[in-house]
Amino acid sequence: MKNKFYTIGGTVITKEVEDMVRLCMKHLSKKEYELRINKNSIQYALDVLKVCHAKANGATHGGRNSIKINLAYWQFKKGIQTFVEYKAFNKDKHIGEIQTYNYHQSLLLVVAHEVAHHVQEKQGSLIPRYRNTYQKAHGLCFQDIYRTLRKDLVNPMCTVDGFYSDVNVPQEQEPVKKKRTSPKQRLISLCDEYEWLEYEDDGWGFFRVEVWDNRAEDDSAFDQMLDHSDSWKDAESYALQLIKEAEVA
Ligand SMILES: [Zn+2]
Repeated sequence: MKNKFYTIGGTVITKEVEDMVRLCMKHLSKKEYELRINKNSIQYALDVLKVCHAKANGATHGGRNSIKINLAYWQFKKGIQTFVEYKAFNKDKHIGEIQTYNYHQSLLLVVAHEVAHHVQEKQGSLIPRYRNTYQKAHGLCFQDIYRTLRKDLVNPMCTVDGFYSDVNVPQEQEPVKKKRTSPKQRLISLCDEYEWLEYEDDGWGFFRVEVWDNRAEDDSAFDQMLDHSDSWKDAESYALQLIKEAEVA
């Protein structure tokens, strides 16, 4: 699995997501929550976790045998943002909409949501009180598990001085590939810049480009045509030469 991902907010490394899944699973494993989660269940959640950043790879998802966090589907922005939840419970005091103060907090919310789905589907059928509700995607079983995560673990971390607020995380951006421009592209932008300069690619079977100096007022532009026809590179340097002459004049 790839180790490092770039989002709008900043860099996310796979280990950060793994730590979040472990944190959520450990929390849910507390005896008082009666979810029958043990060490093996925690390890299983980590084993099935997949982190990716690709539109083509499908949505973020939590299921019985998979937890997928697709960073491309979440705009982990810089700074304060409102994290919006599933419509049916977005207004809920504990599991609804919440303000986050950095993208790590938003990511934690996404992870908690998907871990809740995973536990719902993996453990739900084993727990009598969820017998009738564990199969509904965002039903009462899901909401109950998610509430346990949000109310007691995640929400208290999503404060201005909470989770990641004191960590100086490197704000790396994806290395920008150097764009190489061709003489043709440069000639076209020169012609955009100087309105008296025109080029024409005849589109014949062989290379022929004409650089025009159309500053002459009369309509016999063809006579003013200064032809240059060897290569785009030559055409570009010819255009540059015309510009230089024009600036001197
Ligand atoms: Zn969901």
